[in-house]
Formats: sequence, C-alpha cells, structure tokens
Amino acid sequence: MTRAAFWFTQDLRIEDNPGLQAVLACAQSVAFVYVLNPADFEHRNYQQKAMCHNRWRFLCESLIDLNKQLHRRGHSLMLLVGEPSEAVSQFIRQHNVQTLGVAHQVGWFEQQALSRIESQHTNLAVVRRWNTTLFNADDIEPGPLGSFSRFRNTMEKKGTPVSPISATMPQPWPAPFEGDDFGRPHQAFISQLHQYAREFQQVAIDSTGVSELDFSGGEMHAQNHLKTYFETRLADTYKQTRNELDDWSSSTKFSPYLAIGNISPKQIWQRLKQYEHEQGANDSTYWIGFELLWREYFQWLLLQNGKRSFLFQGNAKDKPLTSFYPERFAKWCKGETPYPLVNACMHQLNATGYMSNRGRQIVASCFVNELALDWRFGAAYFQQQLLDYDVASNWGNWQYIAGVGADPRGGRFFNIEKQTQLYDAKGAFITQWQGRDTLTQLDSVDAADWPI
Ligand SMILES: Cc1cc2nc3c(=O)[nH]c(=O)nc-3n(C[C@H](O)[C@H](O)[C@H](O)COP(=O)(O)OP(=O)(O)OC[C@H]3O[C@@H](n4cnc5c(N)ncnc54)[C@H](O)[C@@H]3O)c2cc1C
Repeated sequence: MTRAAFWFTQDLRIEDNPGLQAVLACAQSVAFVYVLNPADFEHRNYQQKAMCHNRWRFLCESLIDLNKQLHRRGHSLMLLVGEPSEAVSQFIRQHNVQTLGVAHQVGWFEQQALSRIESQHTNLAVVRRWNTTLFNADDIEPGPLGSFSRFRNTMEKKGTPVSPISATMPQPWPAPFEGDDFGRPHQAFISQLHQYAREFQQVAIDSTGVSELDFSGGEMHAQNHLKTYFETRLADTYKQTRNELDDWSSSTKFSPYLAIGNISPKQIWQRLKQYEHEQGANDSTYWIGFELLWREYFQWLLLQNGKRSFLFQGNAKDKPLTSFYPERFAKWCKGETPYPLVNACMHQLNATGYMSNRGRQIVASCFVNELALDWRFGAAYFQQQLLDYDVASNWGNWQYIAGVGADPRGGRFFNIEKQTQLYDAKGAFITQWQGRDTLTQLDSVDAADWPI
C-alpha cells in the first residue's frame, strides 16, 4: 500500500497541479503538507526578513483556502514548522512515507533542501513536476539560455508550445493517513495559523481580510480575478496602460497569485489564447504573453545560473562600483530620499506590498545609479516587502538593472526627472503617496559639510 505525501510549495492550488495529480494517481493513502520556516520571520541576509506582514496575510489566506478545499475531499493540510528539509524529513520518518510529490524547484536553497531530503531517505520515491512554469524542461533548448530576446524568439518560433493543462483529478481521492490530525476540522487549522501568527509575531489573520489593493489570497480569488480581468476587456488596452504607476486596472495584477501558485501560468496563457480567439488578438494581448515570457525566462535563468543569481558580481566580468551606505539605504527603504517619485513609490510598496513594474524599475535604478548602493540590499528589501515576491523574478530583475545579469547592454538607467514627466506630469501620484513630505538630503553633513 503506497503512502504518499504531497508537499505544497509555490503551488498553493488544486487545479492544474501536475505534481499533486501524479501523487494522487499512485497513492493508496495520502497526506498534504506545507512548511512554515521560522527563519523567514527573523532578520537574516542584509538585515531583512524573508517575509513581512503583507505577504504573511496573503499566504495565510491562501493556506486557509487550500485547507478548505482539501477538507471538502476528506483531507486537511498539515502545517510543519522548521527548516524545510528537516521538517519534511521528520514527517517522512514519522509517517513512513514512501512517495513524496513536489513541484520542481528553481530556487537554489529550495533545490538544496530537496537534495538533502533525498540523501536522507534513499528508498523514497520523489515525484517532481513543473508546476510553476509555462514550459517543461524538455521544451527548453539545451545549452546557455542567452538573452531574453533570444529565448522569446526561440519559444515564439516554436509556436510557444505551452504544455497542456493537466487533466482532471482521480475520483475519489486516496484515503487520508490514519490519525486525528488528518482530516481534522477546518476551524482547528485556522486556530493553528493564529498560534503561529503569535509565535512569528505576525499580524493575526482573518480569512476575509482584503488589503488596500484588493488582493485576497487563494485559488478561488485567483480564478475570479482571471475571469473578471478578461471579461472587463482590460486586455485590449494593456500595452497602453501597463506602465501607469497607480491604477488597479492598468496591468493584470496576476503576479501575487502566480508567485504563490494560486494560479498557474498555463491557466493564464490558456485564457489569454481563448480571449484572442473570441475577441481578436492585438498588440496588447500579445504583450501580456510577452510579459509572461519574461517571467518564464527568469525562472529558467535562475535554474541555469544557480547561486550566481545572488552574487554581487553575478554574470558580469567585474564587480559593480557600488557599496553599502547605511544611511542612504535606510532613507531609500523609508522613502526619504531627495527624489519625490522614488519616495512615493516606496511609500506605496510599504503600505500595500505592491509597486508597478515602472515604479520598481525607477526605484531600483535610483538605488544602484543615484545612491550607488549594493543591489543585493535592494533585492533583499523587495523580498521582504513584496506581496508577489518570486525568487527568480526578483533577483533576476535586480541583476538586470544592476548590469550583472543576463543583460547584453549592461545595466539600466532611468532618469528620474524624465520618468516623472512621462508618468506623473501633474504630480498626482507623488501627492497621493506623499513623496514630497519626506524629502531629505542624501547624506547627513555637519555645518562645515563634513559627513556625519
Ligand atoms: C527590481 C524588480 C523586482 C521585481 N520583483 C518581482 C517579484 O519579486 N515578483 C514578480 O512577480 N515580479 C517582479 N518584478 C516584475 C514586475 O514588476 C511584476 O511582475 C509586475 O509589476 C507585477 O504586476 P502585474 O501582475 O500587474 O504585471 P503585468 O504587467 O500585468 O504582467 C503580467 C505578468 O507578467 C509577468 N511579468 C511582468 N513583468 C515582468 C518582469 N519584468 N519580470 C518578470 N515577470 C514579469 C508577471 O508574472 C506579471 O504578473 C520585478 C521587477 C523589477 C524591476
């Protein structure tokens, strides 16, 4: 009798989850686990936490939604707490698990964790699937990935062969493991999350909370958002509006759902193609696919570059000529720089967990080019603050702007004054997010202009 466990990671959904499906198909009894790592809530790399309250809330909503769905099928989600490889290993030992299902991981630490589990349990069958990408590994040409343009051209020439969405789940599902914890009441799950919220000093969650930007975690919300986005025909004008700084409908806002896996990129891609078929394709609908390919590119790039994706020098020949200035860094984080547009963007990020793509490019360019700061600190701050934090997209974009990524042109410079004229000529965004109220000079100096 095969006892299997499925380990949910960045794929918190039931539908179009090939790894989950594979495990359900081979198991006689099954359990579902998710790991909360206390280290994510401690100040670690570059003094940042891996997650702050905005993403914690979104994560809790997603876990509650997932548990509800499992509960309907007679199961529940087990929350394991600890360093992921140790927590999962312990679960495997305690419950005599023979098969472990999990998504392929593109993150370096995540891959290491999985390798440690495999080395500790030599008889364990590990079933991996590409749950978080548009493509599978055998769709990607062997050899170096090259630039984004090369990647996109190759994929588009092939007809963007997105592998088919996985078929329906086996019915009925295999039985839960024996024991009270498996299939326990949904309320007990929520109480446990509250207990961890206290333990990790995070905001108490309530399953109906909606943030200022209207994001609510969970597969159901993700599907509703997908449906509404295309029904309201925003896709027709995406290319003209995507660079706006502060309008909910200007870009798709799929990113938080994609990052946590409430929705799969294939589900979005399929809906986009259906829309083009029914309503007609135009530059804007093409551009949504184009941006999804950017996301895709960064996933495979991270897989290819491994830990180089996090190094100061990245892929560049030389180290950047930037350093760490604590005061400048603190001012950038708080939105207290001499640049109103940057301040407004940072206030928006700190309040909501979201910032537009244009905003991210501007504040990252300011970080590297105006403040001469080591890009890794900016990436770590984004990791902490972003609702849609995704290891590949975040570190890949930061490297790209810092000129140490897979960028043939070497770095990106955004002229802040010009960007303000282009995207906030009337100053409405700066006013709304109080970009002028916190203006300070860059470095503190004494009366004789010496640095303090
Ligand atoms: C410094 C920096 C850090 C970033 N960090 C992240 C991150 O941690 N997580 C994240 O999801 N995105 C990140 N991005 C990319 C981009 O800013 C966001 O994906 C986008 O703003 C999300 O809003 P949206 O869903 O409305 O995007 P849309 O404009 O509607 O795009 C549709 C989808 O395409 C993908 N996409 C769009 N632009 C990019 C891009 N430049 N790189 C990768 N994917 C993209 C996203 O999945 C997005 O949901 C970062 C960009 C920069 C410049």
